[in-house]
Amino acid sequence: MATSVTIHPDNKPEGFEGEGFMLTRLDKVIGLARANSLWPLPFATSCCGIEFMATMASHYDLSRFGSERLSFSPRQADLLMVMGTISKKMGPILRQVYEQMAEPKWVLCMGACASSGGIFDTYSVLQGIDRVIPVDVYIPGCPPRPEQVLDGILMIQELAKNEPINYRTSDRYKERLAKYGIA
Ligand code: SF4
Repeated sequence: MATSVTIHPDNKPEGFEGEGFMLTRLDKVIGLARANSLWPLPFATSCCGIEFMATMASHYDLSRFGSERLSFSPRQADLLMVMGTISKKMGPILRQVYEQMAEPKWVLCMGACASSGGIFDTYSVLQGIDRVIPVDVYIPGCPPRPEQVLDGILMIQELAKNEPINYRTSDRYKERLAKYGIA
């Protein structure tokens, strides 16, 4: 049975408004723009990637959230989505992709394998991508359903929306990267 979905526009930033004008803060406007135009780079190595394809398809339709433009070029992406089993050999490549992405950038880790190695507690599988790159949001499950992927995207949008304008040049952010040996 067909179901109808009501789509609500995003809330406008807080501020003062009157007839013909609105005053708000620059970081709120930038956050709103960033949150609603995320360009994902799908780093998919196995079955979780199939679930992501379902998320992109017409039923779940990720483009409703402004993220229909996938990028396979790190320089033209700001959301790294890691899904699937990541072998230890793949770790340095994943890290290189992360480093090639321009700021600001966020990382979404999808599924048990990418988050913790999942069922593959073996000598060859990385036991979580946060051993090589910082992660912003984890999606649990094996595989997670598309609804969970959408939930993860919404969480990333909240992070983007509320990020202080100078966060990426702050000492706090540099310290976070330094923990991973990234300058
Ligand atoms: S978490 Fe499950 S579904 Fe996802 S890549 Fe691993 S085994 Fe496949």
